[in-house]
Amino acid sequence: MEADAKPMKLGGRLCCVCNQRRAALKRPKTLEQICRECFYAVFEEEIHQVILENKLFKPGERIAIGASGGKDSTVLAYVLSELNRRHNYGLDLFLLSVDEGITGYRDDSLETVKRNELQYGLPLKIVSYKDLYGWTMDEIVKMIGLKNNCTFCGVFRRQALDRGAALLKVDKVATGHNADDIAETVLLNILRGDIARLSRCTSIITGEDGPIPRCKPFKYTYEKEIFMITLGCQSLNELSTYAYFKKLDYFSTECIYSPNAYRGFAREFIKDLERIRPRAILDIIKSGEDFRIATSTKMPEQGTCERCGYISSQKWCKACVLLEGLNRGLPKLGIGRNQGLNSDAKKDIKKDDRTKSIESKQCGSLEF
Ligand code: SF4
Repeated sequence: MEADAKPMKLGGRLCCVCNQRRAALKRPKTLEQICRECFYAVFEEEIHQVILENKLFKPGERIAIGASGGKDSTVLAYVLSELNRRHNYGLDLFLLSVDEGITGYRDDSLETVKRNELQYGLPLKIVSYKDLYGWTMDEIVKMIGLKNNCTFCGVFRRQALDRGAALLKVDKVATGHNADDIAETVLLNILRGDIARLSRCTSIITGEDGPIPRCKPFKYTYEKEIFMITLGCQSLNELSTYAYFKKLDYFSTECIYSPNAYRGFAREFIKDLERIRPRAILDIIKSGEDFRIATSTKMPEQGTCERCGYISSQKWCKACVLLEGLNRGLPKLGIGRNQGLNSDAKKDIKKDDRTKSIESKQCGSLEF
């Protein structure tokens, strides 16, 4: 804090941290009135502590930051570069983007990531669905319509990120999933009765048994926390506030194929809860962490896909099953759960008919 900083009342309250500058926003988590400078410091320090307490990184590691050009991953890239420099983490950071082939959305957001590459000096690798699978999402949607598009996109993205990470030879992938995303996922996994995912969706590091672990430094960072920013009285969430104040260059348009269906309802429900009780998001995450899976519950056994070698609990991984369906002109093949085998396409299609009421996932967020 500058020694000559003068208290600025100007009709507003003083920051409760420095007690010198005028408060610019209110943090619902703590109801603290805080100035911009202290907000940056507190925001960054909280993430630093999460990284330390959970031992997310080791010195010398190569880390890919999953970068979509959106606010969460842009803030993550910025904050991780800052913390890496400030606290000498000793990390080699990279940006890793997936080009799903969505005209008017991903092509524009990738332009933002390319600017971030220069702004933060982080090397960028882009992997595309077209190169990896031979299909763009535009082509997939043309074939299957808008019903299950996010299932294809989520499954393909998960594998694409792993393939990109392998090309970069990184030790870990850091993603911008925030507390709201995780709370929504807990709720969705309960609603779907997906015990396997429920047991791992709150983990801050996942996939340690897989090819490349992933971690979520924003696990406790609120997305939907509403701040009344006294500057102009704008209502912004925590990540938006940080990005807005820091004038970070990010892309904020929604995917043109976003269904906003099942996850959308869960999101709205959590927002309603949060309005009544701001801690609801953290409490849902805590509940998810405290779930104990009965030992009698049969969990899927991890193996490898016979076709591509990717981790899978079935004979073929989900991406190979979905791809087979697309290539054979049977895109419903593999939609729904427990559809990993495609040795008997007719059986799969029958199963698919029984499970077609399962809605699409949005942005593959269930695939933590
Ligand atoms: Fe893919 Fe997300 Fe768009 Fe669905 S909403 S098509 S998962 S980018």
